[in-house]
Amino acid sequence: MKIAVLPGDGIGPEIIAQARRVLDVLRQDGLPLEMEEAPLGGAGYDAFGQPYPESTQKLCRAADAVLLGAVGGPKYDNLDRPLRPERGLLAIRKDLNLFANLRPAILYPELANASTLKPEVVSGLDIMIVRELTGDIYFGQPRGIAVNELGEREAYNTMRYSESEIRRIAHVAFGIAMKRNKKLCSVDKANVLETTEFWKEIFIDVAREYPQVELSHMYVDNAAMQLVRNPKQFDVMVTGNIFGDILSDEASMLTGSIGMLPSASLDQNNKGLYEPSHGSAPDIAGKNLANPLATILSAAMMLRYTFAQEEAALRVENAVKTVLKQGYRTADIFEAGCEKVSCSGMGDAVVAAL
Ligand code: NAD
Repeated sequence: MKIAVLPGDGIGPEIIAQARRVLDVLRQDGLPLEMEEAPLGGAGYDAFGQPYPESTQKLCRAADAVLLGAVGGPKYDNLDRPLRPERGLLAIRKDLNLFANLRPAILYPELANASTLKPEVVSGLDIMIVRELTGDIYFGQPRGIAVNELGEREAYNTMRYSESEIRRIAHVAFGIAMKRNKKLCSVDKANVLETTEFWKEIFIDVAREYPQVELSHMYVDNAAMQLVRNPKQFDVMVTGNIFGDILSDEASMLTGSIGMLPSASLDQNNKGLYEPSHGSAPDIAGKNLANPLATILSAAMMLRYTFAQEEAALRVENAVKTVLKQGYRTADIFEAGCEKVSCSGMGDAVVAAL
């Protein structure tokens, strides 16, 4: 189980250090995990003049999974675009052909007050959003800004999906639904857009291979509304790139605590890149203040989706639940009556709970 570990920039090294401690415990208990670090983003630029250096690329291609902290920071904001840290992130996603983005939105009952929604609406929320990541209007050709036949400037993008692109994301989504509550909601705008009418048709076809999964369909405008009205009606949601971009951010904010949210991006063979949903938080970098739980939960997703180690994944997730029940909180999720801990202090608590 070869893991390329990319701490990145800002709080990246601090949160990754805590996730490594968690994985070390599992290794000592017998999981054959091998970890090797390499620089990405600003760290890649500092070391090799590139946000996705060749040596990092080589390591990531050879690994079974990649565990990433975060990239970016004010120090790099004035670099030429191709050298900026965020380019490293786009490059690695493309290089590894990571087409399936998994973003869980989980609200632990202990953190129900962190949400802007009423606790009874969100407490116990556990949704998985599956977003197609390499197609749709973000990549469709033709695209551009040009002068039209009337001599007026006009801009255009093209929403398109091939059947194989839809089928492969459908299989990922149904597979995930099978491992959860077997309820899958496909989000489209089939009443207006042919692309998503086609999407719906293919999903109905793929559903025949998963008779245990209850497939439903919802228009994206309604889905946006239902996510804030009654989010607990959803188990797994699946959608294309642009709708998924918006809905996954909306869903993550239901929980109100960005330091708690993991993510995974998978390829055809379940090789994956695992990272917290947040950025490099330059404002608190180097202060041992960051919440490492999103990164630790990303490592749990890696155990589940790439290494098929469900038991180890649950062990890590249960340890996180335990420390929350015990009242340990980093500053971002702190409330009165709890015990405030540092980034490494939270790591200590999780390791103890394991
Ligand atoms: P951010 O997610 O880094 O920070 C937003 C706010 O949330 C900040 O106040 C920060 O302190 C807080 N925060 C974030 N993660 C936290 C954690 N684990 N614990 C406690 N508090 C946390 O977003 P931003 O400020 O918009 O961006 C900062 C940098 O990160 C930029 O350079 C941006 O490009 C980059 N970025 C990288 C990624 C990525 O690596 N995937 C994603 C988003 C932003």
